[in-house]
Order: sequence, then structure tokens, then C-alpha cells
Amino acid sequence: MRTLVVDHPLVTHKLTALRDVGSDTATFRSLTAELVTLLAYEATRGIRVQPVSVTTPVGVARGVKLARPVPLIVPVLRAGIGMLDGMTRLLPMADVGFVGLRRDEESLIAETYADRLPTDLTDRDTFVLDPMLATGGTLATVIGMLVDRGAASVTAICLLAAPEGLRHVEEAFSGDRDPGVPLVTVTAAVDERLNERGYIVPGLGDAGDRLFGRI
Ligand code: URA
Repeated sequence: MRTLVVDHPLVTHKLTALRDVGSDTATFRSLTAELVTLLAYEATRGIRVQPVSVTTPVGVARGVKLARPVPLIVPVLRAGIGMLDGMTRLLPMADVGFVGLRRDEESLIAETYADRLPTDLTDRDTFVLDPMLATGGTLATVIGMLVDRGAASVTAICLLAAPEGLRHVEEAFSGDRDPGVPLVTVTAAVDERLNERGYIVPGLGDAGDRLFGRI
């Protein structure tokens, strides 16, 4: 798995505001959308396209259009939903599938409670949206689901990542478990560590709660 840390000053500027405990829900939501669009720009660099010609008012130009089948965006419930707007702004033609995973707060192990993904992902680029790559258990499970269904590539877009989580995902898909398709994680920063409750330090707190409130 390749990790791409997008260190563009605008990305870091928005991430800094997002981390701020003083940012309210409305601010947090709009910053998340803006940040995801910027990360998505980098994350889609390798997206599959096909050549086309287009007639301009003065001639014919060569260009490209997105290859078929269209990409699949996979927000991980619930916090990943807060990233969907920012992603579809860049890829309005993409399909959207949903996965729900619940993290057991004691064991920190992720369990699947919703799976609304196509059964066949042959030739499809897929983009997983999960704001916090913490232990890596959730992301490894979702990548496994997409690879098992034949995805051509899996790119995870995470606002923040912990070194432990990146290591976990890396190890889950290396050696004889390497799926042989491109796996990339795109993030705005890799933070210091996880704390004993599985939160990223310094992080930004609970992304789901900050986006949608505590329920
Ligand atoms: N999930 C979050 O929302 N925040 C963290 O820091 C870790 C996991």
C-alpha cells in the first residue's frame, strides 16, 4: 500500500481549522467538504480514462473522458457520509455504495452491520471515505470487501491517519496477501499515535460526533 500525505498549504490550513476544538458543527462540516475535494484531486490522479475527440468552435481537440464502468465511492458509515459531498463535487458521475462498521470500544475490533456494495467490481476504481484511519481495522475490512469483489484499485481518503493504522493496513495486504491491484491511502497528515481509547493524538476528536452530533 502506498501512502500519500498531501502537504499543500491550503490542505494544512483547512486541517488546522478542523482540528480546532472551537470549530462548531457547521464550520466542521464545510471544512470537511472542502478538505475532501482537495484530497480527492490528488487521490484521482491515476483514475482510468479513455481518449475522445471533441469538436470546438474552431476545430477538433483530443481529450479524455472517464472510463466505464464509472468509479465507485464508498463512504464508511457514519462519519464517511460527512465526506460524500466533497467527493461527489469532483466525481458527480460516480456510483455510491455504503458500508457500515461498528467499532467495539473495548476490543477496538470492527464488525460489519451494513453492506450495500455491488457484488461485481471488475474494472472499477473505488474510493473509500473514512475520516480517521485509527487502528486500521475498519479500513482493512473495507479494502478486503472491495478487493474480493474484483475492484481494479482501492484508494482510501482519510482526513487524518495514525502510524499504527497505516502499519496495520500495510501488513494486512503485503506478502502473500498482496491483492495485486493498486492500494493507496491519501491523507492530510499522519499524526503522532493512538491513545489508550483508540483516538488519534493530537487528532481532532470524534469525527462522527463533530459532524453529526453525539447520539
Ligand atoms: N475515530 C475518530 O472519530 N477519531 C479518532 O481519533 C479515532 C477514531
